[in-house]
Amino acid sequence: MIVMKFGGTSVGSALRMKEVANLITLDSQKKIVVLSAVSGTTNKLVSIGESLYKQDKDEAIHKIKQLRAEYDQLNQELYSSDESKEKAKLLLNENFEYLLSFTKDLFTIYEERALLAQGELLSTNLFKIYCDEAGIQAALIPALDFMRIDKNLEPDEYYIQSNLEKELSKYPETPIFITQGYVCRNAFGEIDNLKRGGSDYTATLVGAAIKAKEVQIWTDIDGMHNNDPRVVEGTHPVESLSYNEAAELAYFGAKILHPSCVWPAQQHNIPIALKNTMQPEAKGTIISQFTDKDRITAIAAKDGITAIKIRSGRMLNAYGFLRNVFEVFERYKTPIDMITTSEVAVSLTIDDKSHLSEILDELRKYAHVEVDENKTIVCVVGDFLSDKKGYAEQIFGALRNIPIRMISYGGSNNNVSVLVNENDKNEALKALHEGLFTAKTMA
Ligand code: ADP
Ligand code: ASP
Ligand code: MG
Repeated sequence: MIVMKFGGTSVGSALRMKEVANLITLDSQKKIVVLSAVSGTTNKLVSIGESLYKQDKDEAIHKIKQLRAEYDQLNQELYSSDESKEKAKLLLNENFEYLLSFTKDLFTIYEERALLAQGELLSTNLFKIYCDEAGIQAALIPALDFMRIDKNLEPDEYYIQSNLEKELSKYPETPIFITQGYVCRNAFGEIDNLKRGGSDYTATLVGAAIKAKEVQIWTDIDGMHNNDPRVVEGTHPVESLSYNEAAELAYFGAKILHPSCVWPAQQHNIPIALKNTMQPEAKGTIISQFTDKDRITAIAAKDGITAIKIRSGRMLNAYGFLRNVFEVFERYKTPIDMITTSEVAVSLTIDDKSHLSEILDELRKYAHVEVDENKTIVCVVGDFLSDKKGYAEQIFGALRNIPIRMISYGGSNNNVSVLVNENDKNEALKALHEGLFTAKTMA
C-alpha cells in the first residue's frame, strides 16, 4: 500500500481535483489519499477566527459568505451531473451553517480548532463526491476517527495504527481510501490539528502506521530545491536526500515539508517521494536512507528566531551552569535550536516565544541575560565529512559580507547553521547560493 498526499494547490481548483483523480487511478496499487484544504482556505479560516476573537461578527459573516461563494463556484465547475451538484450543495449548506454558528456564541481556542478543521473536511468530502460521479471506487475514512496526538502534543502512534486499521478493515475490497490531512483529535478527544502545513505529517504518520511501501507528497514544485525558490533565482531540484538531510531542511524552513514529517517515515525506512502535480513526469526528490557522501546539498532559512545570551561571572569552571540553563528551557517545554558557548557565556536560540518572559525571569535570577529578537537561522545542509577540509571556507567565504551573530558547526554531519538578522536573510541565501552552487557549476 502507498500513501499519496496532495497539498492545497494540488486540490486548489476543479481542474486540479480532476487531475488528482487521474493521478490516483493511474495504477491499481492500494492507496490512502491524504488531502489538504483547497489552497487559501485555511488562511481564510484563520482570518475568520481573528474576526471572531475580536468579536466583529459582521466581518466574520462577510468573510464566511465570501468563502461560500468560492465553494459554490467550485461546485459548478467540478461536477457534471445535477445529482452531484445537489449533493455538494447540501454538504456546503451544512458546513457553512456550522461556520456561521461560531458567530452566535463564545469563540475560544476550542472553537478555533474546530473552525480550522473545516478546510480539510470540505476538500475531502467534495473530492469523494467527484470520485463517485467519475466511477472511482473509493472510501472516505475520517481522520478524526484515527489521528490523535497525546498530552505532549506528540502523535499517539499506537492509537493511530489500531484505529486506522479498524477503518481500513471496514472496506476490504476498496482500492482507494481518502482522508483529511492536518486534522486530528487531542488527548482529551477534542478536535485539534498538526499545525500549519500538517498534512505532510498526516501522510507520513499514516505511512508509518500501515508500513507503506512509499509516501508520495504531491505539491506545486518539482521536489526539494537546493535553496528557497521564493527568494533565490536559479534553484534546482535535488534528486535524492537522506532522511537526515530532509529532516534538517524541513525543520529549518524548507516549506515544502512540515518540520516534523520526516521522522515517522525514517523510523520505518519508508521512502518519501516529492512530486509535482503540475508536472507529474518530473523526477522530483526521493528521500531515503541512501545518501550521497561528501556534498553540500541545499540551503534553507527559518525566521522568527530569538537569540538569548546568558552570561554568568560564576560560569568559569562552573560545571552545573549549563544544566541550570537547560532546566529552565525544559520546564517551559521550549526547544533550543542553536547553541554556542564560551568560557563565560552561552548563546542559544529558540523559535517558540510563548514562554519567553517566564524563561527570562528565571534566567535573570542567576545570570546576566541579553535578548535579540527577529533573527533568522540560515542552514546549510549536506553530508559533511568531519575529516575533510574546506567546507568552512566555502560557507563562510560566501557569507563574507553578511554580519553573523552565531555559528553552529559540528553538531551533526548534516548541518552548518548561522544566525543572521532577519533583514539580511535574503542576501545571505543568495550569497550562499552563488558561493556554493553557482560559482562551482561555472568553474
Ligand atoms: P502544499 O500546499 O502542497 O503543501 P507548500 O506551499 O506547503 O505546498 O510547499 C510547497 C512550496 O514550498 C513551494 O511552492 C515553494 O515555494 C516552497 N519552498 C520553500 N523552500 C523550498 C525548497 N527548498 N524546495 C522546494 N520548495 C520550497
Ligand atoms: N491546510 C493546512 C494548512 O494550510 C494543512 C496543510 O495544507 O498541510 O496549513
Ligand atoms: Mg505544505
